[in-house]
Amino acid sequence: MIPGARLIILGRQGAGKGTQCVRLSRHFVVPHISTGDMLRAAVREGTELGLMAKKVMDAGGLIGDEIMIGLVDERLKRADASTRGYILDGFPRTVAQAEALDRLTKERPIHAVIDLDVPREIVLDRISARRVCRDCGTNYTATGNESQPWICDVCGGDVQQRDDDTPEAVNRRLDLYESQTSPLVKYYSAQNRLAVVNGVGHPDHVFRRLTDAVEARR
Ligand code: AMP
Repeated sequence: MIPGARLIILGRQGAGKGTQCVRLSRHFVVPHISTGDMLRAAVREGTELGLMAKKVMDAGGLIGDEIMIGLVDERLKRADASTRGYILDGFPRTVAQAEALDRLTKERPIHAVIDLDVPREIVLDRISARRVCRDCGTNYTATGNESQPWICDVCGGDVQQRDDDTPEAVNRRLDLYESQTSPLVKYYSAQNRLAVVNGVGHPDHVFRRLTDAVEARR
């Protein structure tokens, strides 16, 4: 167990990253920092950032690097992240973001960068069954037998499909992953900082592989 681990989890959207990051954050007792969750919170609050972000997110695009780097910079300065550590989920997504993150974490470098590897075809199947609680963000997998309206077990909120989980938006996100985010695999492996973890299989087994990979990088 590493108290205060600082981790980056890369991987295609729909690879099960979110759920595994929640488990990892409990395991290592560090905050789970999901830039997607931060943007969705801004959308719910109706802030200027939220209004802009919603259009981009619903189309499956990426928010500008400068905005994202500013958001993460502020978040990493908060007491929980600066004293204990964090799990970054959904950031960095471009080489420019990774370079900025290197500058932000110069004094307290990241311990491990993990690529949670799930092939595109499998991710497409998973995303079409993905449902999310609108209030607390808990992820579910639809089987078709759920009662409607579907109520979240955790907080009683509405469980629905994400607005950006339409087939068009999903395909655009996966294309952007290949062109913008997958170069990060090269970026971090060239610095000998990357561990690739097979994300296919039972979630408990994937979780075990993830914690083993983190321990091995220390
Ligand atoms: P996620 O919850 O990680 O799937 O992110 C949902 C959406 O938020 C993405 O499809 C992007 O539109 C946006 N987003 C989240 N993180 C970033 C980031 N690091 N850079 C650019 N856009 C992001």
